[in-house]
Amino acid sequence: MESVNRSILQLLESEIRNIPDFPRPGIAFKDITPLLKNPDTLELTSRMLARPFRHSQVDYVIGIESRGFLFGTNLAQDLHAGFIPVRKPGKLPADTVSETYALEYGEDQVEMHADAFKNGDKVIIHDDLIATGGSARAATQLVEKLGGDVIGYSFIIELQALRGREQLPSDTPCEVLISL
Ligand code: AMP
Repeated sequence: MESVNRSILQLLESEIRNIPDFPRPGIAFKDITPLLKNPDTLELTSRMLARPFRHSQVDYVIGIESRGFLFGTNLAQDLHAGFIPVRKPGKLPADTVSETYALEYGEDQVEMHADAFKNGDKVIIHDDLIATGGSARAATQLVEKLGGDVIGYSFIIELQALRGREQLPSDTPCEVLISL
């Protein structure tokens, strides 16, 4: 089983394209569009993301705009949880809570609907990639403002050198498919 998993993860990694100097010089952008385009890796990525949380009680998957939406809704469906978007400022129509955070390139703000979930609900925070961990940390702070309980983090890719994990609570599982 271990070697099957390893082969699956190698297949997924082979469909992640490295684009040097995008969106600006010095950034090696990890492009997941080939992973999405291939029907096998599209399905396998979803299944592999869900696997560590199969036996957890999850109320919602929180997906971070925009690439966290691509697999976040699949992950929510797989876990029979709901999906809640964390979005850039000004996109959500109802009352919001917001947080500012630092990106690998630049600074940004994220928002979530103030009535997104109930006090005590259990959530997983998902994004395609964790770099510095700033956006996942900001999403965590949004969840905490509303009294939610982050029971896990889910990423397809981790850029290990940027040590984003260290921005997240050390006692909460952080599940990553591919560490680069
Ligand atoms: P961070 O907040 O630094 O962990 O950055 C994570 C967010 O920025 C995710 O939403 C990623 O999609 C995006 N991101 C940061 N660095 C990269 C990269 N090298 N390649 C692709 N996406 C990236």
